[in-house]
Amino acid sequence: MTNVYDNILGLVGNTPLVKLNKVTEEIPATVYAKLECYNPGHSTKDRIAVHIIEAAERKGLLKPGSTVVETTSGNTGFSIAMVCIIKGYKCVLAVSDKTKKEKIAYLKALGATVYICPANVPADDPRSYYEVAKRVASEIPDSLYINQYFNELNIDAHYQTTGPELWAQTKGKITHLIACTGTGGTLSGSAKFLKEKNPDIKVIGVDASGSILKGFHETGTIHKEDIHPYQIEGMGKNLIPSALLFDKVDEFVRVNDEMSAYRTREIALKEAIMGGYTTGAVVQGLLQYANSHEVSAEDVVVAIFPDHGSRYITKVYSDEWMSQQGFVNNCVHNYDSVFKTEYIK
Ligand code: PMP
Repeated sequence: MTNVYDNILGLVGNTPLVKLNKVTEEIPATVYAKLECYNPGHSTKDRIAVHIIEAAERKGLLKPGSTVVETTSGNTGFSIAMVCIIKGYKCVLAVSDKTKKEKIAYLKALGATVYICPANVPADDPRSYYEVAKRVASEIPDSLYINQYFNELNIDAHYQTTGPELWAQTKGKITHLIACTGTGGTLSGSAKFLKEKNPDIKVIGVDASGSILKGFHETGTIHKEDIHPYQIEGMGKNLIPSALLFDKVDEFVRVNDEMSAYRTREIALKEAIMGGYTTGAVVQGLLQYANSHEVSAEDVVVAIFPDHGSRYITKVYSDEWMSQQGFVNNCVHNYDSVFKTEYIK
């Protein structure tokens, strides 16, 4: 029997590459999107949830009924909750009180216990979601704290799956890999594998305006003045994650909320690929990169599309939300004027 699985986790990984035909047509290279929304939890985070939990099982750290803990309202929480159902663990997620109600509903629908913690307290405050998660993990016996920003198995998950898939899918022809970095695990693990195969492959990280990752990559120091609030979820950070292997990244580009939002909607309209907000960010990052670098017709570029747009229907796909942000060009007919290159900062 083919295409038959023992449970939903059998569908994690082996996601497709799809050629982009319109949104990157100004770039001479062939550009593929790796559609991570084809994972059963609809994001790239399924890979690390399975990998980290199975590694803990092999080490005997988890027993039936054990608890898995993480601080996230995002894709990682959903993926951990999914793995916990199949493997018979409890899932506890500590999230900030800024988290949208529908996201909490998503997590609860998959059986997670969700602790809602104040966002406006320092990270070391006992009420912060970091401290709550640490406390829960220390108080519950046989629990596992995933700690994705500082867990090297996050890198390893992509070294063992995403990287080899990209090499095989492009028959070794990949010349550029570009991905948004949050924890950095996706880009670092894939890049580590690919550069072992071919050290000439260019690896490009996409950082958010408001985050310190690009500045740190360029100078080795944290530029506090770079930090400001931003809207794109899942990428950029105000700390340096150890899951980001800076030496595997050739260059970072920085994208802003507004252009990433337009791009997300443009990709849906022109490619019929409805991705999340960082899908727009990675394409925006690629176009900015191609503006200042030589990219040839022989090049094969892969952009990671991390998740599905259905999670952003009240955000980047909402005209009302776009207007509230002051993103006035949300009218689809204006795209061509919006995307004049002088607008790309
Ligand atoms: N995009 C989205 C929507 C995400 O949730 C994440 C994960 N935080 C990323 C991009 C970045 O992935 P990584 O953490 O592997 O750098």
